[in-house]
Amino acid sequence: MERSTIVRVHEGLHARPATRFVKLAKGFESDVELVKDGKAVSAKSSVKLMLLAVKENQEVTVRASGADAIEAIEALIGYLENPRAGLDDEAGEGGSEAAAPAPQATPTAAASADGTPKLQGVAASEGVAIGPAFAHFPAEIEGPGRRLRADEIDGELERFRGAVASVQARMDRTLAEDNLSAGDRGIVAALRDIAADDSLTGEVEKLIKEGDDAVSAVIAAAAAVAADFSAVDDHYLNARADDVHAVGRQICLVLLGQDEVSLETIPQGAILIADDIGAWDLARAPLKRIGGVVCGHGGATSHIAIITRSHGIPAVLGLGDKVNALRTASQVAIDGNAGHVIVDPDEATRADFSRRVEAAAQERAGLKIFKGVTPTRADGTVIEVAANIGSLEEIEAAQEAGAMGVGLFRTELLFMRHMHLPSEDMQAETYSALAKAFAPHSVIVRTLDIGGDKPIAGIEFPDEENPFLGWRGIRMCLDRPDIFKRQLRALLRAAVHRNIKVMLPMISEIAEVTRTRALVEECAAELKAEGVPHAGFDLGVMIETPAAVLIAPALAKEVAFFSIGTNDLTQYIMAADRLNPTVAKLNDVTNPAVMSAIELTARAGVAAGIMVGMCGEAAGRPDLIPTFIKMGLTELSMSPASIQRAKKTIAAMAAEK
Ligand code: PEP
Ligand code: MG
Repeated sequence: MERSTIVRVHEGLHARPATRFVKLAKGFESDVELVKDGKAVSAKSSVKLMLLAVKENQEVTVRASGADAIEAIEALIGYLENPRAGLDDEAGEGGSEAAAPAPQATPTAAASADGTPKLQGVAASEGVAIGPAFAHFPAEIEGPGRRLRADEIDGELERFRGAVASVQARMDRTLAEDNLSAGDRGIVAALRDIAADDSLTGEVEKLIKEGDDAVSAVIAAAAAVAADFSAVDDHYLNARADDVHAVGRQICLVLLGQDEVSLETIPQGAILIADDIGAWDLARAPLKRIGGVVCGHGGATSHIAIITRSHGIPAVLGLGDKVNALRTASQVAIDGNAGHVIVDPDEATRADFSRRVEAAAQERAGLKIFKGVTPTRADGTVIEVAANIGSLEEIEAAQEAGAMGVGLFRTELLFMRHMHLPSEDMQAETYSALAKAFAPHSVIVRTLDIGGDKPIAGIEFPDEENPFLGWRGIRMCLDRPDIFKRQLRALLRAAVHRNIKVMLPMISEIAEVTRTRALVEECAAELKAEGVPHAGFDLGVMIETPAAVLIAPALAKEVAFFSIGTNDLTQYIMAADRLNPTVAKLNDVTNPAVMSAIELTARAGVAAGIMVGMCGEAAGRPDLIPTFIKMGLTELSMSPASIQRAKKTIAAMAAEK
């Protein structure tokens, strides 16, 4: 008996949804399988389900045989079609493991600028740290490779089952601890599932029955399952290979009667260095004492990255073999923004990092009083100090910082994070969640700003000589109304909350605004005809190209606001690639050419009576904020970490008058 359906589980059957699906399936006696593209796997194995890589909006078939087959199919199809119904978990679908903000990828080539040995890895969690190195390189476990006698097999199977039960019990105890965050809890729960999964345990038992000792069997089976995860074309699932190894290791340690080298003894402020750290080990480590994390394994979507980011611990991951250079280091400095690790820094570097760390800590403490401040100009005009964010997970940090709304929601992450284009519903939910979180403040959502330099699944980008001058941002969107309209419809739906504004990136001519407006109207008419609630929104543009600056007076008559994107504006005004370190000197917002472009824009916007804001990095610079405010800018949007400092700068300006 079988039934097919389209999967509506947000982000597909990743770890947590797969776990839920399995839990449901296990509630039935029948054998149940999930079939995708002709491949059938047991619906009672979360590992097999994850490896099937089922994505949202794909067609699958649920097949069942047994006494309660009808009920099983009903329940499982129900879950796939409406995953939120009947959930007892408030976190909903696509839990933290799949939804963590993915920082920009960084090159992994070694770099040495000033003669100091500097290793380059993946900038996985921002912040700088310097501290004693705490090398955590537990010895590789080797199986004894012993052949079992036939009369030993049953005993070895029991020993293995006991070890699995003991690992699960330890994980259960960790899960029961109060101090575990919701994100960490999800991660540990997923590891617990891997430990119990048939794919792993079934393979181990098979090997033991064939005569392998339990430790050797676990090592071989974990390697095979991990290899399956590594082979899938999905970064998130690739990262699960490390989790499988970590679980296998835990089972082996119990079998060998050994304890993992504990992270309990890590000194205050130390930089944890490891080739790999099990997410479970990290989640239950004394995280408050860890100054930073450096790892050979791991990428931006690995569990280590998710945990360090959510605990504000700077981290550089994915160093590969280069991490071995740190085994004997006594001190390490890391820059989690740039992805740099400096081994045994010289005195000047030590002094520099200590100063940066100390300054950051002192500043953070002193700035807290500005969180609730509403800064004004001397004439009483409120200056909105808003946040630049790229995911719902960053809402809390922005609110904690005292953000007066969102001045730039980069929607690219929503698109880049998935292996398919996000649906209208999913986008509408995301934009609505933002609107509700920041009401009554505005939330400015930027329409998709993607190009050949940042490819995403579902859009074919041509090879371009100059991707920054090519088919990106509004240019791509207007050529792909199927994608663009989906986003505009979602924004119109979210606009019922009344605080959504929309801005267009990379504008270089007025026609781009008028064509967008026509599409917005088309979408609104469609939604009306379909009876879907929606509302209008203010439409603004980013000023990022010299062309936009030069037509700013005319552009100002077409839109509700300007937001100056100094990152791109600087590279285009100076003709200096923002990613090319050899022209970094030219890429300077304080160059008179760039400052005069900003001034021209401000003047045009103020003359037309529209709001002029800024959302490029320069908006958070205390040395430039007074100049921008004098130019007439009334909104500055920046990374949450800069908000309190910016409020302080503006308050000081007003007090001077
Ligand atoms: C900018 O260009 O200043 C900007 C804010 O956009 P992004 O950095 O996302 O290109
Ligand atoms: Mg830009």
